[in-house]
Amino acid sequence: MTANLYALFASRFPADRAKPCFILSDGTEISYGDLEEGTARVARLLTTRGVAPGDRVVVQTAKSPEAVMLYLATLKVGAVFTPLNTAYTEAEVGYFISDAEPKLVVRDAIALFAEAQTLEPLNETVARDADDLASLIYTSGTTGRSKGAMLTLGGLATNAQAVASSWGYSDKDVLLHALPIFHVHGLFIAMHCAFLNGAPMVWLAKFEDAAVLAGMKRATVMMGVPTFYTRLLANAGFTRDVASHMRLFVSGSAPLLESTFDDFADRTGKRILERYGMSEAIVITTNPLDGDRVPGSVGFPLPGVELRIAGGDTGGIEIRGPSLFKGYWRMPEKTAQEFTADGFFITGDVGRQDPDGRVWISGRAKDLIISGGYNVYPKEIELIIDELPGVVESAVIGVPHPDFGEAVVAVVIGKGDERAVIAEMRERLAAFKTPKRVFFVDDLPRNAMGKVQKNLLRDKHADLFKV
Ligand code: AMP
Repeated sequence: MTANLYALFASRFPADRAKPCFILSDGTEISYGDLEEGTARVARLLTTRGVAPGDRVVVQTAKSPEAVMLYLATLKVGAVFTPLNTAYTEAEVGYFISDAEPKLVVRDAIALFAEAQTLEPLNETVARDADDLASLIYTSGTTGRSKGAMLTLGGLATNAQAVASSWGYSDKDVLLHALPIFHVHGLFIAMHCAFLNGAPMVWLAKFEDAAVLAGMKRATVMMGVPTFYTRLLANAGFTRDVASHMRLFVSGSAPLLESTFDDFADRTGKRILERYGMSEAIVITTNPLDGDRVPGSVGFPLPGVELRIAGGDTGGIEIRGPSLFKGYWRMPEKTAQEFTADGFFITGDVGRQDPDGRVWISGRAKDLIISGGYNVYPKEIELIIDELPGVVESAVIGVPHPDFGEAVVAVVIGKGDERAVIAEMRERLAAFKTPKRVFFVDDLPRNAMGKVQKNLLRDKHADLFKV
């Protein structure tokens, strides 16, 4: 049997192909039959351009149903889908092209789709093995060169099936899709649930409050990043009534603040389901669908994922399992460095697992602060700052310090008095953990997935203690 992921999806498309796949904001629907045919025509175009199994197709394009057809067509012909963040500059794109050596680069999926309309659909789906590549995902690495994580067809299929079943996904579900599709969250985690169930998606080009609120009338599931939830909470029109049709709100890609979880529960009566994942492994842990969703915890390892903590109670999170990536594209040494001898991937996240098996993340290993020889986990300090009156969110970083090596610095969304905050923190924390400086800001720098970019904060404050 072929392990081509497109063949798996097509086997799950609804028997009645007239059923909708995409429901657009203007009410237009694109059916599963349209998706299948569009995919087949684009697949034909790919083959006429010489795209063969194993070839990379680099795609930097606006979010659209046609871009999804391009993704599926790439799978159909056995090629390797390589999406790029739409924010990347020409120079960055140039790097990715030289690294991936694609057969084809697509910058406009709609134009490609239009061109494919004159071609005969390609009905055949190329036979592939589970270990063959489905996609190359360039990590949003903030240090060094961005690495291409090689994801396999079998790995994506295994993960998607485990996710869909953990979240009780069915053909009755309607997904509110407002995420970008150049990242694993919107491209794989969200869409694969819909495809595996032949279910529709309310399709939004981007997160826009009014469209999201309107979409909730029809949808049952939303997958989002934490900033989606803070934006919804900031909108008075987001009421219990508006959310009432929704079965499930999922959050991932960045830490969900406990205050967001609590405020959301107060507003809607619903508990956000937080899960944790990364490009190299897709979904790693999830809170339960049935059972307690504990704020601050990312839940239990997904079925099929082995997870362990290296070196002590709180330490590096390491994982093993069938949905893990195959390595970094053309970087065998880098790949070897990030796996242990017994085949666990070193995620670079630091956390702990409680006696019940729930996983708690304290941050990225590279964000760990070493001050005066002591380890400081930023999350511990952030949780305390976040409880202070007037504080919305905080980011704690380490910056070079002549005496301590690194000093703890807090950047805080909100208003307050620096000296009072430091004094208050000092009552609750050892001196080496207490921020030496606190800055109040309107917002923190974030990437497209809502992750706070601590590297930018560290750069900004690098000279703070310079003598
Ligand atoms: P990416 O490969 O761009 O998806 O980034 C993956 C990283 O995002 C992980 O290694 C974590 O550091 C972070 N991340 C994802 N989900 C969560 C979560 N629920 N809580 C905390 N961090 C998360």
